[in-house]
This record gives sequence, C-alpha cells and structure tokens, in this order.
Amino acid sequence: MKTVAAVLRAVTDRRPYGESKPMVLEEVELSGPRAGELLVRIEAAGVCHSDISVVDGSRVRPLPMALGHEAAGVVEEIGPGVKHVRVGDHVVLTFVPSCGSCAECSSGRPALCTPGALANGAGTLLHGGSVLADRDGKPIHHHLGISAFARHAVVARESAVVVPKDVPLQTAALFGCAVLTGAGAVLNTAGVRPGQSVAIFGLGGVGLASVLGAVVANAWPIVAVDPVAAKRELALQLGATAALSPEEAEKGVKELTFGGAEVTFEAAGVPAVMEAAFRATRRGGMTVAMGLPHPTRNVTLPALSFAGLGQSLVGSYMGSAAPQRDIPRYINLWKAGRMPVDRLQSATMPLDRINDAFEALAAGLAVRQVLLPHP
Ligand SMILES: [Zn+2]
Ligand SMILES: [Zn+2]
Repeated sequence: MKTVAAVLRAVTDRRPYGESKPMVLEEVELSGPRAGELLVRIEAAGVCHSDISVVDGSRVRPLPMALGHEAAGVVEEIGPGVKHVRVGDHVVLTFVPSCGSCAECSSGRPALCTPGALANGAGTLLHGGSVLADRDGKPIHHHLGISAFARHAVVARESAVVVPKDVPLQTAALFGCAVLTGAGAVLNTAGVRPGQSVAIFGLGGVGLASVLGAVVANAWPIVAVDPVAAKRELALQLGATAALSPEEAEKGVKELTFGGAEVTFEAAGVPAVMEAAFRATRRGGMTVAMGLPHPTRNVTLPALSFAGLGQSLVGSYMGSAAPQRDIPRYINLWKAGRMPVDRLQSATMPLDRINDAFEALAAGLAVRQVLLPHP
C-alpha cells in the first residue's frame, strides 16, 4: 500500500530545523504485514530527543530512515501466525522488539534483547529486512522497529502492546518511550522505596516521567533539576518537592537531602550532567544514567567513590522495562489519577509540522509534542 512517512536522508546539525527541514514527508510503499507482523494505522506519535539524536548524528543509524519511535495506533491488518491481537485493537508501540527467547529475554531483561538490539541497529524489523520503500523502490530503514512519523507502519508483533480502547491514543503514545523509560528507571532499575531521597537531572519527557515514577514510589524528597524555569515549574506541579537550576543543584540537592540523594537520575544525555548527578549522590547511593550521550564522549568520576563510598553508577535502557507488563500497569495508574502522563504533552500538531516540532524540542521549548498523522 501507499502511505506517507517522514524520512531522514542526511544527518545535519543545521538549525533551526524549521528552515533546514531534515525530515521530509515522502509517499512510500509499505508492504506486508509479513508473518509475525501487524499493520498499524498510526494515530499519535511523540517527538523524543532520541529522534533528534539521529538527525544530528549523535545516534548513528543507517540512512535513509523513517523516524519515530513513540506512538500509538489501531491495528488494521494481521500477518500470518500472529497471536493475541485482533484487527481494531489499540496498541502502544515499544522501541525494543523483545524476541522472548534470547539470553537477555530469558533472564527477565527484555529491554536488552539481543536480536531486538541487532535489528534496531541495522534499521530492520525484528524478523529481518525492511517493508518500506521509496518511490524508486529503494528500501528505507525502520527506526527502532517502528517508524511512527507516518500514516501507517508495519511492525513486529513484539513491538506492540495492546491497550484498553478508553485511553486516548494521544496520551497512550507517551507510554511507549517517555513513561516506559523515565518511570521505569525509578520503579524497575533503581527500585526506589518509600521515603528514599531522589534527585532527577534533566526534565524532558523522560525526566518528568521519572518525577511521576518517584511520586508513585513515595520517594521523599524529590528534587528536580533543569536549566529551563518552565520545566522546573511543571516538575513541581507533578509532585517534585523542590526544583533547582543546574547552578544551584550540587549544593541544593545535598542540603535538601541531608548530605546527598540516595538515588539520582540523569536524563539529559550529557556527560557533565551525569557527573553532576553522581556528585549529588550520597555515600552508598546509586546514580542511574538514562540519557544517550554521543558514543565518543566519556565521563570522569572520582575512582575512590565506588569502593570507598559504596557508590554505584548504573545504566537504564528503556527503564529496564518489560513492556507487556509495565505499560498496562502504568496505564492503570494513569486511570487512577496517580500518574498524570497527559501533563507531559506540550502540544499536538499535524505530521507535516514535524520539523517545527523538532526545533521546539531542540530549543528546550517543549516537553512532549505529539504529531497527528490523520488530523
Ligand atoms: Zn524516545
Ligand atoms: Zn530477546
């Protein structure tokens, strides 16, 4: 079938993106679904920093690629052999298609699925190859098994979580990346317990979802750190007990947490922020890195802090999530009013505004903007 997808053909750091227009809406040929795959009509797709990281080259991916990895939609067609999904079901898409049988999946760590990571790195669907082609018949790579900045997508069954139909799809989309990653880092990776002190550095969609996770976990205090005043204000509204600028953070976190937070979270993808989060962590505490810095960057930390102070630095990919377990849980919390995920949504706009949305995110003016391919 013919559909429309936003395709990146060349890496650029030229801004504003509204003028350099790295994403081009192209008419594309979408084939399939093949065995084990679904055709999904994309109803909402969130714009995430990881999309911009592909555009500016800090996440190296094969091009051309149809971007977009945080989305929700409606199943329109089912390939052979697919179980537990029906046409008409609402699905949230997740950016690691976990195979369910590799060593990592078998160890209860589906976010680190090896075939899923290999497919994502190669820009293919989980079961191999691309089902997207341009007007000349040349293949287009898939972004994280989803390619959601499009009117339709074919995805592996493993990339989809069926969700209740009474959740607005514009809200549901955010569960696929921001919530899974941010809340998951708190609830899964760190396993924050009631009364533990936390500090969250970087208040984009992921960092603010960590604030939501910390509130659910009954952490106290919850200190939020970001250079943008409007994001600090939003963090306070979502349940952070204090919000600080980066300049105030090191001293401020230590004061507010009586010597350093027991768990700190880094959601900026910037090595200096990781180091700041580590310095704000108390003896015996844990620093959780969620951001994705450029692969050539390094962090420098006091070597003695590990054995000498019992500190640890751990990575959290996709919130150490098991999406088929976690997304329904988080949706239940949202329904109960305990995880107001819709507050992370800054704006909705038609798909053809994609470059403006990228610019607003890169400029720090938006948290989560949701693109609507069928406005
Ligand atoms: Zn993302
Ligand atoms: Zn696996």
